[in-house]
Amino acid sequence: MHNSDTLASADVAIVGGGMSGLALACQIDRINNCASRRINKAVVIEPRSKYQRDKTWCYWRRGPGLFDGAISHSWSRWEIRSAGRVTTSACPETPYVRVDSGHYYESAVQRLASSNTVGLKLGVRAGQVSRDQRQLYIDTDRGQVRADRVIDTRPRPIPEGTLLQHFFGWEIETDKDVFDPTTVTLMDFSAGTEEEVHFFYVLPFSSRRALVETTHFSKQQLCESQYKDELRGYLRQRFALSNWHICSSEGGILPMPKRPPAQLEGQPDVAVFGLHGDTAKPSSGYCYPHAQQQAERMAEWLSAGANSGPPAARHSVARWFDAVFVTFLENRPAQAPAVFFRLFQRVKPAALVRFLSDGAQFADYLRVIWAMPKAVMMREALRYALGR
Ligand SMILES: Cc1cc2nc3c(=O)[nH]c(=O)nc-3n(C[C@H](O)[C@H](O)[C@H](O)COP(=O)(O)OP(=O)(O)OC[C@H]3O[C@@H](n4cnc5c(N)ncnc54)[C@H](O)[C@@H]3O)c2cc1C
Repeated sequence: MHNSDTLASADVAIVGGGMSGLALACQIDRINNCASRRINKAVVIEPRSKYQRDKTWCYWRRGPGLFDGAISHSWSRWEIRSAGRVTTSACPETPYVRVDSGHYYESAVQRLASSNTVGLKLGVRAGQVSRDQRQLYIDTDRGQVRADRVIDTRPRPIPEGTLLQHFFGWEIETDKDVFDPTTVTLMDFSAGTEEEVHFFYVLPFSSRRALVETTHFSKQQLCESQYKDELRGYLRQRFALSNWHICSSEGGILPMPKRPPAQLEGQPDVAVFGLHGDTAKPSSGYCYPHAQQQAERMAEWLSAGANSGPPAARHSVARWFDAVFVTFLENRPAQAPAVFFRLFQRVKPAALVRFLSDGAQFADYLRVIWAMPKAVMMREALRYALGR
């Protein structure tokens, strides 16, 4: 029996209006504005009643996107630091950009407010998704939503034993010039340990303002005071700082699974999308650029009304490289700083950016293989193939 108190009825219901859900909603609206409009009604269900800036999304921008207006900073140089050495890359064609989440949400809300076909229901929490022969039903705290297809972007529990990227950072302001605003520090391994991958990340907005994060790849997260101690130590050691003003803080836990989540299989009308689906690149934790690309493909798939399952998140070759690299990170954390350093030092920046953005060409894969310690990676590939 399904509840007669219907909140909405739609062709497509997107559960969760965060970064991925809004990207998909806006892509559906974009497609609906073209001549071949196929989705009559879509709805986004989001428990927040109001959006606020809550994080920073960075990625290498390889082409125009729907949310380019939300980009607040751009850098064409980045560096890796390890064992007293620094390797710097420059690639003005694919700058590393920072999206302000506040502007992103604002831009999506504005677009959906003027859409005739895609609605945003704020302040609504979704529960279970069920089905009968004809439709899907989403229970919410404001009644039921009926839909032909459901795209679920809600966070879900991370399976035990998954490698995690866990991090915490401060956006700080200093009273002297300490940061180099031209260059992002993607990874500084100078305070690393042998037991796990640990590095610092510095996103400089000016010579006095930066986001500084401490990041670990391991299976156990730390308590907040440990991350804060690491940040204090780093700010003292690298920038000789003793005072700073904390403008904001952010932290997170991103899964780095070797295999895509099992619940994606066999449900063509309920697709899981977003950080806890198969969207983030497992070996790096970057999710934003992949969500944007996948949202475009998914909107096209939805508007085509195909009976097949959702489009694959990434090419099988990219997936294999990710899985082998995650296996390597799990088993040989002590060697990770040297391998990241070699990658950024030896592979041309444009090729490496394509590789990291799931847009690698055949020659890019060869360049990456050439830069890697081959015997080590072959052993890790074998270990992955044997399921160890
Ligand atoms: C602090 C931080 C910084 C990050 N920085 C980067 C970066 O620089 N680059 C990058 O590529 N990635 C980054 N990521 C990873 C990733 O891009 C973000 O986590 C991103 O927000 C994931 O998008 P999402 O839509 O999957 O999840 P979210 O944006 O978290 O959206 C999930 C949505 O589901 C909603 N929801 C929850 N429960 C329910 C419910 N019961 N019913 C309906 N809706 C529900 C939530 O309210 C939320 O809006 C970062 C992550 C964090 C946490």
